[in-house]
Amino acid sequence: MPQKFILVGSGLAGGLLAAYLGRRGYDVDLYERRADPREGNIVGGRSINLALSTRGIHALEHLGIADEVLQHAIPMRGRMIHPAGAGASTIFAPYDVDPNKHINSIGRAALNTTVIEAAQRYPNVRVHFNHRCTDVDLDSATAQLLNTETSIISAVRADAVIGVDGAFSAVRQSMQQRLDRFEYDETYLAHGYKELTIPPAPDGSWRMEKEALHIWPRKSFMMIALPNPDGSFTCTLFWEFEGPRSFATAKTDNDVRRFFDEEFPDTVPLMPTLLNDFRQNPTGSLVTVRCAPWHYHDKVALVGDAAHAVVPFYGQGMNAAFEDCVVLDECLAEFADNRERAFAEYFVRRKENADALADLAIDNFIEMRDKTASRAFRAKKKLDHLLEALLPGIYLPLYTMVTFTRIPYAQAAQRARLQDRIVYGSSAALIFALLVALLRALR
Ligand SMILES: Cc1cc2nc3c(=O)[nH]c(=O)nc-3n(C[C@H](O)[C@H](O)[C@H](O)COP(=O)(O)OP(=O)(O)OC[C@H]3O[C@@H](n4cnc5c(N)ncnc54)[C@H](O)[C@@H]3O)c2cc1C
Repeated sequence: MPQKFILVGSGLAGGLLAAYLGRRGYDVDLYERRADPREGNIVGGRSINLALSTRGIHALEHLGIADEVLQHAIPMRGRMIHPAGAGASTIFAPYDVDPNKHINSIGRAALNTTVIEAAQRYPNVRVHFNHRCTDVDLDSATAQLLNTETSIISAVRADAVIGVDGAFSAVRQSMQQRLDRFEYDETYLAHGYKELTIPPAPDGSWRMEKEALHIWPRKSFMMIALPNPDGSFTCTLFWEFEGPRSFATAKTDNDVRRFFDEEFPDTVPLMPTLLNDFRQNPTGSLVTVRCAPWHYHDKVALVGDAAHAVVPFYGQGMNAAFEDCVVLDECLAEFADNRERAFAEYFVRRKENADALADLAIDNFIEMRDKTASRAFRAKKKLDHLLEALLPGIYLPLYTMVTFTRIPYAQAAQRARLQDRIVYGSSAALIFALLVALLRALR
């Protein structure tokens, strides 16, 4: 008899994991509280598009669905910076010294549909929409499920339950409630986010450079925009919830209009539905979740945001969740007759990397909103690219390691710190030597 898994949540990682487990021959029931995304009810205020990069693509390639996904993607080759001040010219900063390296703007709906369909190709995977998990009995691996169409509650038992149910995971909550010494920490940023739209030009083309991630860095806050295949851009404003200038003070259409006129004047003519979008679209919060352990014996495990939600500023949350699926699949293969060992090993291999990513993502918020506008920052990026070209395979900028390689996040962060120490140390030594030489020459 094949082992039976219940997966809770068919978001980005849930669909992908169901496909991985289906391919291994497990019996999989995937329960999702929402309706089928193919019926058009998917996003619910979440980011409409996302940046997909090497780690995520590798996980899709492993299942043979990367090309299917990438056909819907738009390459973004660098950051297009929109400095403050009316009339200021945009500045393009490539992501890598190699112009072929890019990240990909991909629609959440298209991606979610592709991974669910990949899972459904396996006859041993069944997907049940409109089923909300309300509780999990950890010892018997039994999920309580509420059918949101019929209001019928049922208890479904399996060999293991995997919570792939996102940052506010019900499966994780069951672990929190029942397990002694379960570590849990959630931290919210003072900033929230709101999505806005730049529609296509009348001829269907993009109203700004298409192959770039646009950033309006404004020190304590920022806006970004990613291109969509239909010629539009989805903009996301990251702004303080409270304070003298914040979501809380943007109460009227006039407040919003004045704020945009002052801070993002180049976008105002491109956003005919700005006021409506601002009023209608929800303001989301930005949470970092850290917890441990990510499993309970061989009965329950957590994957993706359920285990480690991170703020979105490195564009890695989904990529990391996909990487979890690859690692869990590898561990289940390696310890095929000992699922508890497989879950434990998965946790050990991923935890320090998820923690490192959480820190990197917060640091990158400061970099994006504040530093990208500065000359010193752009000079450092150029130096990074120069060193990468001069020392191929030896010097790798942090962004490159995180985005364009599969070097574990913790290792990438550590290596970047070492590289910085060497570069700054040798620069300081060089400046000192030049000063000494200059003083000698003047004597
Ligand atoms: C504004 C923003 C921008 C982002 N941009 C990027 C980016 O550019 N690149 C990137 O890699 N990542 C990005 N992310 C992060 C990314 O969205 C998440 O990391 C990713 O969605 C995690 O996938 P997941 O499957 O773990 O969770 P989710 O995608 O959240 O899926 C969880 C699923 O579980 C379902 N569910 C929840 N509770 C229950 C329940 N009780 N019962 C049944 N089903 C349930 C939900 O309906 C959902 O379908 C961004 C996030 C935000 C908020």
